[in-house]
Amino acid sequence: MIVPMQPNDFVVDQAYETAWRKFTETAEKLRYYNMLSSLSGWDMQTMMPEEALEKRSEVAGFMAAETHRLMTDPHLDEAVQALQEAAEKGKIGTREARSIVLFERQMKKVKKIPEDRFRAFHMLVARGESVWRNARAANDFSSFAPLLAEIVSLSREMIDYLGYAEHPYDALLDDYEPGLTVKRLDTLFPPLREGLIQLLQKIQNASYAPDISRVHGTFAEAEQEKISRLVSERLGFNYRRGRLDRSAHPFTVGVHPTDVRITTRYLAHDPFSSLYSTVHEAGHGMYEQNLPLELERYPGLMSAASMGVHESQSRFFENMIGRSYGFWRYVLPLYQEAFPDIFNGLDPEDVFRIVNASRPSFIRVEADEVTYNLHIMLRYELEKGLMSKTIEVRDLPELWRVKMEEYLGIRPETDTEGVLQDVHWSSGLFGYFPSYTLGNIYAGQLYAALRQDLPDLEEHLAKGEWEGPRQWMTTHIHRHGALFDPLPLIEQASGASLSIEPLLQYLEEKMARVYRF
Ligand code: ZN
Repeated sequence: MIVPMQPNDFVVDQAYETAWRKFTETAEKLRYYNMLSSLSGWDMQTMMPEEALEKRSEVAGFMAAETHRLMTDPHLDEAVQALQEAAEKGKIGTREARSIVLFERQMKKVKKIPEDRFRAFHMLVARGESVWRNARAANDFSSFAPLLAEIVSLSREMIDYLGYAEHPYDALLDDYEPGLTVKRLDTLFPPLREGLIQLLQKIQNASYAPDISRVHGTFAEAEQEKISRLVSERLGFNYRRGRLDRSAHPFTVGVHPTDVRITTRYLAHDPFSSLYSTVHEAGHGMYEQNLPLELERYPGLMSAASMGVHESQSRFFENMIGRSYGFWRYVLPLYQEAFPDIFNGLDPEDVFRIVNASRPSFIRVEADEVTYNLHIMLRYELEKGLMSKTIEVRDLPELWRVKMEEYLGIRPETDTEGVLQDVHWSSGLFGYFPSYTLGNIYAGQLYAALRQDLPDLEEHLAKGEWEGPRQWMTTHIHRHGALFDPLPLIEQASGASLSIEPLLQYLEEKMARVYRF
């Protein structure tokens, strides 16, 4: 149970006030650097001309070095220590104290890494996305492997600096989900996997299956974009505080609640890929846009609680809302108008079944909800092995194929459909993938609670009255920023402790409707 924090008056004595000033001055500088770096990152993936890459990655390295220099400033360290002491004595407000806790976690890590290695890592990963993008387009793992090997080697080096109690991978997991460990994931993932495989078997044994071939043709990009914009806006993504652009791999950058960039991609033969990428990223985007501005003056608090919580927002809007029957009752006419030849013969129930059809497939971001988490478990196994040095980069393409067969029963023919499909490793984001499954688990819990509060959700969605879910999430998640760690936040919002059951139950119910069992 969380007692909501009340802001209390901070100024207690001169010493702490000076320390607070030093702390907030530096934190603000860091935040401005961060805002500009994230804008630069957005530009690199959407607009930047190819030949600008070398120079821009030098700039990324420079910015990282500046960040490092600021965070390791001995005066800052003194100020933070003084404020920690003040917090222990109850002499500063709860929000100030929380700010210090979060900042100190970061500072402690950065201090362990030498500045030149910190810079080298950020320069390297800034180049990664572009090299990966070309390798993926050419289905050529060998053109990406040398860079990936460097990224892996530097990530292992970072782990050595950071240290860990039980598993090397823990050092990286903590960056995305504070306190998350291999040990905890190893208690969550196996029963989830078992539940999902049982459900997959039911699906495969069902006598009915949706006819996905009914949505087949070429879908003009301009029409796809129009629908993506309309749907994301109606869900609550605010275009006066945001943009939608295109990129090889959809992503979101929250520069500030007033400036949130989302991207999507358009496939000529699949009208749902752009839709669900947009809705997913809009879920992230709405979290960023609705972070509480009143926490801006407390460094680090006007932020998301964790990447797992972030993914709970994107996966919730993508799946619980965007793949619901009520949603399709409202959205189908948009598709019928844009692509009459294909959609005129379909009713909402047909499309609801088609977009929820479950079958093992190669590409994670296009995977259905039942198989999705199996894709994550595969990446989890590989990352764990890479970071504990039991797997090397050269082993990845073949191991990917072997694991795909083990987890999903299919074997990709190309690396574009296999090991090259995701952007994360090229950006050095080892440890991120488990956030997606945690996000799904959290989303399952949040959805169960939301349905209690909004019993007529489906009817509202059908009428295009879509503000309810966004408002519910703002009340229960967004407005808390980073005041709480992810677990207490989710437990408070859902009224239940962490469990895979709500997710499994939701999937079971949905698939029973889709497959009529
Ligand atoms: Zn996401």
